[in-house]
Amino acid sequence: MTAVAVANAAYVAAALLFIMSLAGLSKHETGKAGIRYGMAGMAIALSATIWLTLSGEWTDETARGAVLLVLALIAGAGIGLWRAKKVPMTGIPELIALFHSFVGLTAVLVGWNGALNPKELSAELAGVFNAEVFAGVFIGGITFTGSIVAYLKLSAKMSSKPLILPGRNLLNLGALVGFFALTVAYVITPQLGLLIAVTVLALALGWHLVASIGGGDMPVVVSMLNSYSGWAAAAVGFLLSNDLLIVVGALVGSSGAYLSYIMCRAMNRSFISVIFGGYGIEAPSGEEEETGEHTEIDAAAVAQLLNGAKSVVITPGYGMAVAQAQYPVAELAKKLREKGVNVRFGIHPVAGRLPGHMNVLLAEAKVPYDIVLEMDEINDDLASTAVVLVIGANDTVNPAATENPGSPIAGMPVLKVWEAENVIVFKRSMASGYAGVSNPLFYKPNTKMLFGDAKDKVGEILNAL
Ligand code: NDP
Repeated sequence: MTAVAVANAAYVAAALLFIMSLAGLSKHETGKAGIRYGMAGMAIALSATIWLTLSGEWTDETARGAVLLVLALIAGAGIGLWRAKKVPMTGIPELIALFHSFVGLTAVLVGWNGALNPKELSAELAGVFNAEVFAGVFIGGITFTGSIVAYLKLSAKMSSKPLILPGRNLLNLGALVGFFALTVAYVITPQLGLLIAVTVLALALGWHLVASIGGGDMPVVVSMLNSYSGWAAAAVGFLLSNDLLIVVGALVGSSGAYLSYIMCRAMNRSFISVIFGGYGIEAPSGEEEETGEHTEIDAAAVAQLLNGAKSVVITPGYGMAVAQAQYPVAELAKKLREKGVNVRFGIHPVAGRLPGHMNVLLAEAKVPYDIVLEMDEINDDLASTAVVLVIGANDTVNPAATENPGSPIAGMPVLKVWEAENVIVFKRSMASGYAGVSNPLFYKPNTKMLFGDAKDKVGEILNAL
């Protein structure tokens, strides 16, 4: 068997392991096994690639390949280990966005490499190859700058407000038409100028698409970029004639697209609108700044309120993750349950900064699964709940989404915590949440603000209980 045949057989095994990994990751119980399948698949794929580079006659070219491979492995493994060890849980989405940008950049570089070192091909095949180069550079370029904007927005280095350029839908459409025209021109006569033009066009379009999407829709954007990075990897697979990259790219591309669709449904957003950079979304019609009197409360008074309550619902958000308050929160739930209080958790689909963020934190703190309910399962019970503890959540409990059609988050389903008898909001200030929208909940007569770090405040309540 030739080295290529061995490597291809290994790639098929790796592809199967990746499929098993995805299947495993779809359930809590099989999640760990899913991760192991993925690691095994990646180990096989890497070994096969190393074998492919080093096997055969040892020439100058093999030696150059080996040096580049070792350098790439050291750099990749070094950066990967360092970031994975350092990154806090709350920083995972921006890390993922940054990873996606690498995939995009790779597709652009591989495309350029293919164009600058063309293979010996017949005229027809050369046409197909040139079209592939353009597709790879275009998808890769969009993924690269789109992911960088997502990274900047998620890490608050750039405003989460949508950029609304005049005629932005026409700009996007024009870019798409421009891409097709440039591709046709390049297939007819491959010229460097055309390649430069499509690269600049893709980079600008990626930037514009994601910059046009507002903070509240970022979860969908992250999964959409995940999907784009898959298609970019598949394009690289075509350019390098690598079946594994094609299979894995298609898996990531389609599962990312499906996840975006599910999230759009959960957030009542149009899928088409989000993938086309906010197509059809009007600029928010001037959100009125919510003002009024808010009432504060202290930990001792909250403990007293909880002591007399029959039912308590805890709705956690990003602030619980920042404060690492899941352990005292789990302790509080346990203590109240021992006193006979009916305690449940209500989880919004986009609470925190990545899908399932709150579920992971609560599972880590050993909160029983059966009292952790989805938004749709708990929303109707909130009106008959004595006390709701909103722990570091803000956008996900904002009544403006249902009450103010001009709000940037209008139409997004939210936890209707304001319907409960008493609402206690744990946060450090009156600042707005990720979407940058003010929250009328804080001024409702049944709402009390408990200012301070969520972990400290829950600890104080535990002491008082
Ligand atoms: P928000 O970002 O709306 O609000 C979090 C709140 O936590 C802030 O208002 C902040 O207020 C408070 N907070 C921060 N640190 C602390 C602390 N140490 N102690 C107490 N409170 C703290 O969070 P939500 O979870 O309600 O909503 C998630 C938002 O993130 C949505 O807009 C969603 O679209 C977006 N998003 C979600 C993603 C996902 O996949 N889930 C991905 C990307 C974005 P203060 O500063 O006053 O303390």
